[in-house]
Amino acid sequence: SMASPALLMRVVASAYSVAEKAATIVRNVMSAGDLGIVEKAGPNDLQTKADRLVQMSICASLARKFPKVTIIGEEELPTGDVTEDLIEDGHCEEILKKPCPAQYTGIKEEELVIWVDPLDGTKEYTEGLLDHVTVLIGIAYGGKAIAGVINQPYYNYEAGANAVLGRTIWGVLGMGAFGFQLTEAPAGKHIVVTTRSHSNALVNECITALNPDHVIRVGGAGNKVIQLIEGKASAYVFASPGCKKWDTCAPEAILHAVGGKITDIRGNSFQYNKEVKHMNSAGVLATLRNYDYYASRIPNTVKESLVP
Ligand code: AMP
Ligand code: MG
Ligand code: MG
Repeated sequence: SMASPALLMRVVASAYSVAEKAATIVRNVMSAGDLGIVEKAGPNDLQTKADRLVQMSICASLARKFPKVTIIGEEELPTGDVTEDLIEDGHCEEILKKPCPAQYTGIKEEELVIWVDPLDGTKEYTEGLLDHVTVLIGIAYGGKAIAGVINQPYYNYEAGANAVLGRTIWGVLGMGAFGFQLTEAPAGKHIVVTTRSHSNALVNECITALNPDHVIRVGGAGNKVIQLIEGKASAYVFASPGCKKWDTCAPEAILHAVGGKITDIRGNSFQYNKEVKHMNSAGVLATLRNYDYYASRIPNTVKESLVP
């Protein structure tokens, strides 16, 4: 008889369905109109009812199926029972049919860490910039981001009322990434994508030093990595602390699965074991191609200002 699918593929297949449920919650909270905004560190660090409900949904759904996996979510929430209507127990059959890369077939539950950003781009969500928003579920093993799911709940929203809203992008190292059309950025042009709502002098100094042809300022780490893999931007540059492990884990796995590279501004790779510091204190540098070009042009003064 057929061996049962490897744990990693079962987790990814479930995370896919859990992220689709999350997207429905994100859209429902917005259409109901009461966002329930709470300030965390300040006015640029917000939490809404959608952030709270989605984190409960994702974490409770995955924990029920995979009780020994470590799950780390962005939001600090009171512990307690999650209502059954938030639980998703489905999975994506198509993902389950794909063979697990050989190096990951022996992974056990207690060896996985799942990093959850229930709603990436909350500031933009509250301002109606809905296509900036993503739901991020990143899967780490041995400290490395090896698989990820990015759901974009409002993908296609500019296409009008009849358009199908939302999409789910997923990937596994050694397998590739799916749910989008991999596209190269325009050759010979330097298009930098960066933060919209968390700029500061160092962020701007770093971008100026790269002498880009164009700068795109949008919300969300997930959204910015999507811009890289769809050829809208050639580099994601953020010379500041602020971005956390749950922001980068899923995007990193998907970007690496298609041959891209993400590090901090100094070129250090990110670690995703459960004990790691949450903050990516030394910023973010990511590209689909030509990583070395951008890395070599980051000023030493900028690098020295950011301590990992
Ligand atoms: P951004 O590119 O500004 O959308 O940031 C990407 C991710 O990092 C989002 O989840 C932000 O909330 C988070 N982030 C970046 N900078 C900060 C900051 N200064 N304070 C709080 N969160 C931040
Ligand atoms: Mg985020
Ligand atoms: Mg978030």
